[in-house]
Amino acid sequence: MNIVIVGNGLAGTLAAKTLRELDPEVKIEIFGEEKYPYYPRPNLIEFLAGRLPYEKLFAFPEGWNERQRIGLHLGQSVTRIRPAERTIETSAGASFPYDVLLLATGARAVIAPVAGSGQKGVFVLRTLDDAQAILGHLRDHKRAAVLGGGLLGLEIARAIRGRGAEVLVVEFFDRLLPRQLDPAAAAILKAQIEKTGISVRLGAVAKEIVGGGHARGLRFESGDEVEADAVIIAAGVTPEFGPAKDAGLAFARGILVDDRMRTDKPEIFAAGDAAEHRGQVYGIIPAAFEQARAAAYNMLGMDMPYAGTVPSNTLKIAGLYVTSAGIVSGEGHGFESLVRAVPEEGLYKKIVLKEGRLVGAIWMGTKKGASEVSRLVALKKDVESRKQDLLEETFDFAEIP
Ligand SMILES: Cc1cc2nc3c(=O)[nH]c(=O)nc-3n(C[C@H](O)[C@H](O)[C@H](O)COP(=O)(O)OP(=O)(O)OC[C@H]3O[C@@H](n4cnc5c(N)ncnc54)[C@H](O)[C@@H]3O)c2cc1C
Repeated sequence: MNIVIVGNGLAGTLAAKTLRELDPEVKIEIFGEEKYPYYPRPNLIEFLAGRLPYEKLFAFPEGWNERQRIGLHLGQSVTRIRPAERTIETSAGASFPYDVLLLATGARAVIAPVAGSGQKGVFVLRTLDDAQAILGHLRDHKRAAVLGGGLLGLEIARAIRGRGAEVLVVEFFDRLLPRQLDPAAAAILKAQIEKTGISVRLGAVAKEIVGGGHARGLRFESGDEVEADAVIIAAGVTPEFGPAKDAGLAFARGILVDDRMRTDKPEIFAAGDAAEHRGQVYGIIPAAFEQARAAAYNMLGMDMPYAGTVPSNTLKIAGLYVTSAGIVSGEGHGFESLVRAVPEEGLYKKIVLKEGRLVGAIWMGTKKGASEVSRLVALKKDVESRKQDLLEETFDFAEIP
């Protein structure tokens, strides 16, 4: 059997690895638009911060693909799928047959609707090429603005601050990490971030990047301006459809898949940031991971359903561990929230229950219990009788099986 995988990111690579583990014979070919072997994207932050050297970015040692007998075609994008003939075409003009195809084309960074974003000194961070371009620019430009106070924006800010840049984070919403934190937790985080020398401007709309071809500053909707000779846009991502649309595959926000990661064409699957499953486009590693594994099993005809991923993330931002899982601002009928906070220590713990079941949590300023509480959220555990205890430092999660 011939399996072709489009995309050399986490989903494509993990699917290939799983396929090989499951079947030593199947023929696997991966096509990747980028010229590099697989690297986990969080490594780009470490690279940007100078904590990870170039050689350590990559997930596998040299020759891994050959040893796994996985054909790797780097620097080649798949430009066309011909479903009727079951072939793909690449940017190098080659054509390959497939029996089963996986679309793992990921996502690309959104350029916010800001005038002047085409100038020199304006960047996004999605790929290794992007990271290298940012680093090159920061060598002689030190006043940086990061547009976006979400996870990626804050991570970028922290990384380049560590390189000695003066950094301003601009966030459209009235708080940082609007998707992961509630207002109280976001206020604690902001104070911690500011202690590291990063400036934060909330509720601000950058209307224009000013400069005559080279970024010089930002003009806000309010009319005032700040200087910035490096602007990094971290305004979210959008699924990359690659050749899926032209091939007539059903799509909405992402490429539509069922619980077997199958598109509306039975021999074509999709997984990762490009896929939309039950109305969700996740854009996070745990989902790409679970989807790619499920896709690999199902591509070989071994039934493995995928029922969705509960978003959960632990990050260290400005020295604070921040974990956010499930629904973090449960309001309305049937919801109950419990909080324990010590703001001066950066500590904030919150659990959200719906009819006694744990549906969300924020765990900030401590790692202790973070993965355990995330697991309980994923399982939607009934914690009604222990809800007060859960927030205590001394609580032993082993007591909730
Ligand atoms: C800097 C950074 C840090 C991150 N940190 C975290 C984190 O801490 N936690 C977390 O959960 N998530 C994080 N993410 C998000 C996470 O990296 C993504 O969810 C994950 O990479 C998705 O994997 P994927 O394989 O679906 O897509 P991608 O990693 O985007 O890979 C898709 C690949 O397909 C290639 N491709 C696209 N079209 C074609 C084509 N037509 N032909 C051939 N190849 C093609 C692309 O070039 C790309 O290399 C981070 C993202 C970034 C950018």
